[in-house]
Amino acid sequence: MDIEQFRKAGYQAIDRICDYYYTLQDKPVVSSVKPGYLRDSLPVEAPEAGEDFQEIADDYQKLIIPGLTHWQHPSFFAFFPTGCTFEGMLADLYASSAMNPGFNWACSPACTELEAVMMDWAAKLLGLSPEFLNTSGVGGGSMQSTASDSALIAVVAARSLYQRRHPTIPQASLVIYTTTQTHSLGLKAGLILGLSVRALEVTWEDKFSLRGETLRKALEADEKEGKNPFILLATVGTTSSGAIDNISEIGAVTKDYPDLWVHVDAAWAGVALSCPEHRESLHLNAINEYAHSFCTNFHKWGLTNFDASTLWVRDRKYLTDALDVTPPFLRSAEGDAGTVIDYRNWHLALGRRFRSLKLWFVLRSFGAEGFRDYIRRTINLNNLFASLVSASSMLSLMTAPSLALSVFRLDPKPDSTSLNGSKALSPETLNDLNRSYYARISARKDILLTQTVLNGAVCIRFAVGAARTEDVHIRKAYQLLCEEGKSTLEEWRK
Ligand code: PLP
Repeated sequence: MDIEQFRKAGYQAIDRICDYYYTLQDKPVVSSVKPGYLRDSLPVEAPEAGEDFQEIADDYQKLIIPGLTHWQHPSFFAFFPTGCTFEGMLADLYASSAMNPGFNWACSPACTELEAVMMDWAAKLLGLSPEFLNTSGVGGGSMQSTASDSALIAVVAARSLYQRRHPTIPQASLVIYTTTQTHSLGLKAGLILGLSVRALEVTWEDKFSLRGETLRKALEADEKEGKNPFILLATVGTTSSGAIDNISEIGAVTKDYPDLWVHVDAAWAGVALSCPEHRESLHLNAINEYAHSFCTNFHKWGLTNFDASTLWVRDRKYLTDALDVTPPFLRSAEGDAGTVIDYRNWHLALGRRFRSLKLWFVLRSFGAEGFRDYIRRTINLNNLFASLVSASSMLSLMTAPSLALSVFRLDPKPDSTSLNGSKALSPETLNDLNRSYYARISARKDILLTQTVLNGAVCIRFAVGAARTEDVHIRKAYQLLCEEGKSTLEEWRK
């Protein structure tokens, strides 16, 4: 393809993307294709002779779009919020046109410098302490691919710090702490690094939040057994229910255990720190005081296209001490002089994408005010859903709504159903009922929700956050969930 062919194909691509967005809400959310559909439609190997680009572009429309789950559909309520934007798409286009794997400052100064500035903008937007800013010269932030990468990097850095402080302690005694609600990133980090993982119990009564006392007891017990917990992967906004670990209490415990690194994974919920009214409940002060590292994904609820996981550390040397490997071919005058950041020493790979460009476009185009408006609007939409569920005689909220997430289930009140007379249903019956209920919901193509299990109770998650979701979609979703609830109960009664 030459430059003029690119111009033509590029205009067409943008036109088609606009059409996609104009018609998005008329499409089903979920694809109807069957496993293997694409392999059956594609040649078994790359073509020997190059093909006409128009055919390739048409095949995207014909073969790929039908197999997409439309995460930006206003009736997508599964997993976690993913409000991506045109600003982000354009930035990705520019970034990919420049094709800079900016691992060293010298590779492409703009890539490193924009990332350093954007991480400071983002830190300020979220209210992080000046200690985390790149301008501090001590702490700093970088953009990673995912929260799982960010957690893995935190564990690598924490292990390295711990081993430098305690060179004779065997690695086999090291333990990563998580909770029973931590995302699978904790187990994955343990698996990759060959380290034990201990999931601390959290309770329904504590809203699945890790309390200081639980942490202290675990630390005391492990100390007696000669084990060495060296990092806690705490969560602000768990995947299942949006639980918030009590970072204030956790921080107070770590005063007695200064070797315990506290990583705060706020993958989806962290961007709500941009709104001052949520800072207290999300433990911002304690994060600023105690966290060694903090991560949130702008590519989840932060209007930025995948991937844009932001990771801050209180001391950048924790990262570079663990990850700096500099063969002669990677040396540069500026790097040697220590006057620049070489981001390759702040993450796992060498090459890195020019991710900061999309954060720059998004934060400038929305402004801090527009960004906060979007977060608040999403929370209001979730509150609307929660209020509809609360007033329902068939559905019940299982936890208080957490920002953009509600967890609920089919829970017919004794007088609203002849299912079991006036008696409450047993936990097993309720679980069976909700499995059937979720099976019905997930068989639909016009809405998508995910399920979870909280303390043995089968529940359904409702996560708001596609940028185009509005009141009408919430009400429609509620209506549809009620219809499926009624059908589930009717079927059950038979
Ligand atoms: N942490 C939490 C709390 C999450 O909700 C998720 C995704 O659902 C993740 C981590 C994983 O994020 P990533 O895909 O960026 O690794």
